[in-house]
Amino acid sequence: VPELPEVEVTRRRIAPHLVGRRIRRVRTTRPSYFFVTPPARLRRALAGRTATDLERHGKYLLAPLDDGTRLVLHLGMTGQLFSAAATSPRLLSATARASLAPEEQPSFRPDAHTHLRFEFEDGGPEVYFRDTRKFGKVLWLPDGKAHPRLARLGTDALEVSGALLFTATRGRRVAIKSLLLDQSILAGVGNIYADEALFLAGVRPTRSAARVTRRECDAIARGLKRVLARSIETGGSSISDYVAPDGRDGEYQSERRVYARRGEPCFECATPIARVVVGARSSHYCPRCQR
Ligand SMILES: [Zn+2]
Repeated sequence: VPELPEVEVTRRRIAPHLVGRRIRRVRTTRPSYFFVTPPARLRRALAGRTATDLERHGKYLLAPLDDGTRLVLHLGMTGQLFSAAATSPRLLSATARASLAPEEQPSFRPDAHTHLRFEFEDGGPEVYFRDTRKFGKVLWLPDGKAHPRLARLGTDALEVSGALLFTATRGRRVAIKSLLLDQSILAGVGNIYADEALFLAGVRPTRSAARVTRRECDAIARGLKRVLARSIETGGSSISDYVAPDGRDGEYQSERRVYARRGEPCFECATPIARVVVGARSSHYCPRCQR
């Protein structure tokens, strides 16, 4: 599942292919739950427009357009946003991949899962949004209109601070792990990063949020920024279907200290990493280093 770092990596890599290029037309697949804005309306709204920027809030990508409207994209679980100029062998079917000679550059042909195809006035490479499971979303926001999905989002996780966490945790009896995953408090913190940040701060995922001290809130905020920044640097975690827009896989997962390391020795104290379910999410921690 693409988390904040993967979405940020996607944003940085796709922006040069999208921003400042006038859209000639957008081709879509048929209406489905992928399209929050109906495809016909989307095609009309985007023809002739130019994205002036590509921003991110939590796991949402927002492209302000030159007429004051905005295009919003969410990668969902398997969404891939990439340029025809930079595709990955992993986007090809196994058969197509096997038939490639080593010196052949893989090329991607839009398929039934390619829900958006941006064609540009400059005639250059198209930009595709492909999503095999359609948990991704696309919507178009007319001028000035906010969408409930976006209005509900808390502070972007890269902007987290100890003060913010301390305020948000006072009087809350929910587990600190669940609070970190609450998108109305922090937008874009996923399971991996919450577990890793709590390890760095020495706080158990099950501890009541109200019982986390100010000093520990500072440490959790520092930990979150550190793991998110490091994951962005290495290109995302690439645990499942995530493929970077130019086909490079993320490498962050090799740096995990606790996430999905149940039973393996803690790198600090050699105690086996434990797993516990918190708010229906699997959580990993060191029983000795985290209290
Ligand atoms: Zn330990």
